[in-house]
Amino acid sequence: MPDKQLALVTGASTGIGLELAKCAAGSGFDLIIAADEAAIESAAAELRTLGGSVQALQADLATTEGVDKLCAAVGSRPVDALLANAGIGLGKAFLDQDFQRIRRLVDTNITGTLYLIHRVGKEMLQRNSGRVLITGSIAGFTPGSFQAVYNASKAFLDSFSFALREELRDSAVTVTCLMPGATETEFFRRADMMDTKVGTEKKDDAHEVAKAGFDAMMSGESDVVTGMKNKLQTTIANVTPNEVLAKQHRKMAEPGTAKS
Ligand code: NAP
Repeated sequence: MPDKQLALVTGASTGIGLELAKCAAGSGFDLIIAADEAAIESAAAELRTLGGSVQALQADLATTEGVDKLCAAVGSRPVDALLANAGIGLGKAFLDQDFQRIRRLVDTNITGTLYLIHRVGKEMLQRNSGRVLITGSIAGFTPGSFQAVYNASKAFLDSFSFALREELRDSAVTVTCLMPGATETEFFRRADMMDTKVGTEKKDDAHEVAKAGFDAMMSGESDVVTGMKNKLQTTIANVTPNEVLAKQHRKMAEPGTAKS
């Protein structure tokens, strides 16, 4: 049995997930990383230069088969840290969106994430050891007009993360929610949001966001919101009516609001 700890990172081919995987590799974890597309192999090659073993897996984590494939790759080796990060966005008005894409978002962000945490979490609880980091979002604080299903999916994950943490409070398994604000990654391009203000304005650095999340997970904190602007935004959101928040979100996410 290898003596290094094992971290499982989903959505590690790009963006926040790749940076989380770098943090884990830099802290001495062996890695199993997963994403849907073949780019996971080049991410693995980059991560191997940081030391430790890195196993890459191409799996569609929107499906139970994909999650089963990932769990099969882990085998009987204990997972010390599960970084459930894979996720997608979807811009435009709800009724203009393609329902297959809506469903895929829910399957990826919610169902696949829950199934993976259910499988790995059970094993962590049996061993009474493990850390779970869930990538939620500050989007979960705001009804996301023109990104409605995405924000709702992140509200789900933010809420779920705190609830699971409480259920596990008498165990040594910790659950931490990373709640990034808008971050510079592939996310907005893939979500068809390059014609929006939020898609085109300056965003947070993915490495800094991931480092804050990784550090919070390692110290067993409940959650982390990075940066003063995002902290202020969440504090204000907590005391603002949802109707007002939905109006404000339109200004950020409605097509045609892009900075020229
Ligand atoms: P990103 O660069 O697009 O990365 C998304 C990652 O998730 C990729 O590795 C992608 O791999 C993977 N993924 C997506 N669907 C998958 C599937 N069905 N099966 C397996 N892997 C899948 O975007 P990101 O910004 O780093 O997003 C990472 C997480 O941060 C997401 O949960 C997102 O909601 C959250 N977040 C992002 C922001 C932001 O502003 N960027 C803010 C708050 C929260 P493939 O390319 O192979 O599909």
